[in-house]
Amino acid sequence: MKGFDLNKLVRKSVRKLQPYSSARDEYVSDGSEMLFLDANENPFDNGVNRYPDPYQRSLKSLLAEQKGVSESQILLGNGSDEVLDLIYRAFCEPNQDNIITLPPTYGMYKVLAGINAVENKEVLLTDDFEPNTDEILKVADTNSKLLFICSPNNPTGNSFKKEGIQKLLESFNGLVVIDEAYIDFSKDESWLSALKTYPNLIVTQTLSKAYGLAGIRLGICYASEEIIGILNKIKPPYNVNQLTQQRALQRVLNQDLVNQEVKKILDERAELIKALDNLDFVKELHPTDANFVLAKVDDANKRYQQLLEKQVVVRNRSTQPLCENTLRFTVGTPEENKKLIAILKEL
Ligand SMILES: *Cc1c(COP(=O)(O)O)cnc(C)c1O
Repeated sequence: MKGFDLNKLVRKSVRKLQPYSSARDEYVSDGSEMLFLDANENPFDNGVNRYPDPYQRSLKSLLAEQKGVSESQILLGNGSDEVLDLIYRAFCEPNQDNIITLPPTYGMYKVLAGINAVENKEVLLTDDFEPNTDEILKVADTNSKLLFICSPNNPTGNSFKKEGIQKLLESFNGLVVIDEAYIDFSKDESWLSALKTYPNLIVTQTLSKAYGLAGIRLGICYASEEIIGILNKIKPPYNVNQLTQQRALQRVLNQDLVNQEVKKILDERAELIKALDNLDFVKELHPTDANFVLAKVDDANKRYQQLLEKQVVVRNRSTQPLCENTLRFTVGTPEENKKLIAILKEL
């Protein structure tokens, strides 16, 4: 982080890029009645006949206010998956650069590395599921552009300790991406407030989990104005559609309802943990800060199949490193949870 120079991290082709300028870039409506004859749209109003705002200003303004950042520090995408892909494409030179991931973790980082022809250096979490900071810094080299830290981590469920993340932010010479998909379930604070301190920090969040909008695909990236400027250069002009922007806005405005649902989910999580704890075939429950629980069982393949036969689909995470014989249970509604617990007791 010392002597941080963002320009050095940007891909050469992106540094030189002159971005596409859309009709809605060149003329921004100030709300007055205009004749819009600039974008070859069908003029007959059906609610979505116009191109959406390429910079999603209403939604960003609301998020900026709620999160205490400026609008120029936000990039929105078609799910976090698009946001993450944009980060690779802006900063990683294919067949040259590498990224660092910390398995067991979210599978998309690795897939996106593969798609973008970027080497994925894996540094396993420690036995208590914390980042192995010494090893990460040892493995990092001058081509290590991105370090992905998922906290709370999927599939383990725990939030990483602050000290370890801080050390990485201070010592890693590329960008540190903290994926906070589950932050709304966590007792820990978001890293958003650290954006002021660390110019190499990117925080991603999503409306897919706590906000209950997985179907509309809305991922959020918070970073310095400079980083967001670079991502804006390469994003598809209309990457967040009008319907998504509308639904997201409604939902983010209705923070009370989101909070109520999160609280219910956390109550149900406690019930689920209690029930799992009492089962003989559950060997270990990993502490969770998310809306799921990772349980070590006697025979994950067998238990997974038994649950399927009872029409219950959970995630078998056994193939992940350090996750032998584990099942990941997402917390459902009180009714779903009751059903699951009854079925588990009968196995
Ligand atoms: C679910 C999840 C996401 C969400 O991705 P979207 O594309 O926004 O739905 C991101 N990161 C992690 C770790 C997740 O588990």
